[in-house]
Amino acid sequence: MDRSWMYNIDRLIKGHIINPNFERPLLKFITFALSKPRFTDRGNIRCPCNRPKCRNKSFQDPETVKVHMITEGFVPHYYNWVHHGEPHFSLTRQSQYNYYSHMAGSSTAAPEYAYDSCGNHHKPPEIDVSGPELNAYDTR
Ligand SMILES: [Zn+2]
Repeated sequence: MDRSWMYNIDRLIKGHIINPNFERPLLKFITFALSKPRFTDRGNIRCPCNRPKCRNKSFQDPETVKVHMITEGFVPHYYNWVHHGEPHFSLTRQSQYNYYSHMAGSSTAAPEYAYDSCGNHHKPPEIDVSGPELNAYDTR
């Protein structure tokens, strides 16, 4: 399942028209979340928007979630919807795993928890092994 829409699509066209390429999968996401009773609260779902008060912490009604998502965007690195009833990628090992495997690395903690509250541009440490390897070959 392609989730590049979550972060790689302009949510608004010309600053005021909701981009259907964002809205369509967003509505699917909300429907998915509502279909998991154990992850809802009287018809409300956790809002995964990037507002400090939300970020999968507070429950909001679906319409509010939609507005938040369009105005704020998703909290960073939330490819695996574990707060909305989706099994953990690392357990299921489905194809979506690729989307965050670069940040799973050697970390033992669940990455999406690790980066939940770190703000916008907190990048996971990059593991750069190509440089030294190439040098080693050069000097041989
Ligand atoms: Zn929100």
